[in-house]
Amino acid sequence: MKHLIPYLQNDQKAADYLRQLRWPDGVTCPRCGGKAVEPRERCDNGLQRFNCVHCAARLGQQFAMFTDWTSSIFEESKLRPPEWLLVMGLWQLKLNATEIAAAADIQERTAQRCINLLDGGIYETYHLDPTRQLEHQVEADECYQSAGSKGLAREVERCERAPRPRGVKLRGRATAETGRPPLLGLVQRRDKADQDAPAAQVYLEVLENVRTATIKPIITAKVKGGAQFFTDEYNIYHFTEADYDHRTVNHGTGEYARRDPDGTCVHCNTMEGIWSGLRNFLDHFKGISQRFLHLRVARYEFLHNHGHLHWRQSFEAAMRCIFSTPGDYWRRMTHQHRRMPLTLCYR
Ligand SMILES: [Zn+2]
Repeated sequence: MKHLIPYLQNDQKAADYLRQLRWPDGVTCPRCGGKAVEPRERCDNGLQRFNCVHCAARLGQQFAMFTDWTSSIFEESKLRPPEWLLVMGLWQLKLNATEIAAAADIQERTAQRCINLLDGGIYETYHLDPTRQLEHQVEADECYQSAGSKGLAREVERCERAPRPRGVKLRGRATAETGRPPLLGLVQRRDKADQDAPAAQVYLEVLENVRTATIKPIITAKVKGGAQFFTDEYNIYHFTEADYDHRTVNHGTGEYARRDPDGTCVHCNTMEGIWSGLRNFLDHFKGISQRFLHLRVARYEFLHNHGHLHWRQSFEAAMRCIFSTPGDYWRRMTHQHRRMPLTLCYR
């Protein structure tokens, strides 16, 4: 986090650094994308104001103003730029809301909202990115994560059933409805022959249930055809035979890894390792709501996939992702759609 120190000195420096990350090739208008923008005076919190010449002409106004944060997830926030910068640094260290609130000296509710916004930004851009695909050697596995309605007292009241039974073995595979949503994990093994190869690339999806109908579209979209595909002998994966070189290990008979005659190592141990990392990460939140589980999982996925990078590179990659969305995902999710109409923004 050391590289952030110079930018935390005052509002202007923090705002300038964040603007650099948002527009590395020069400021463009968030509404029309035009480059004909002129800087105006700064706002009280250090954010730079700009006037878009093109939009002003189009609207027949003298000015069409926007700021560093217009149409970004930070737009409606009352935090100042250095506070956001500090929160983002702590967010990357995988801290929970209580710790972020203490370290950044903000309210815990505010910290909670900040991490939901940042996780939502990563979910919407990085996790949902359709171009991200896994290839070569891919392992698949599923695990189950306890998640209820933590922090949502009204939600618990609304559902007319007894609280989720804890520590009780239910028959059959767990589902989201029984309070243990399954997670599907796909991981592309790291190429050990290449010194500079990135970390093993992982894709994690929170599911309603583990049925072939649920996982088939995900696997088809995320794993390139022709890849070697390793799973356990669980029959939900049987459909993959046609598209992939599918090999299974039989955990039931105590087989966890084997070397096939062609030299291929058949196992799901990379994915098992990632599950234990993910459990450590999620345990840190001390109980997690089903409503937010996929957001936390998306943060873990992003940080894991960028783990081979230097801290600063990974921080800046996260910020570029987060700035590439106006944050509508989070607003839709919380039903707090209070965005001002466009004309009002052009004061
Ligand atoms: Zn414009």
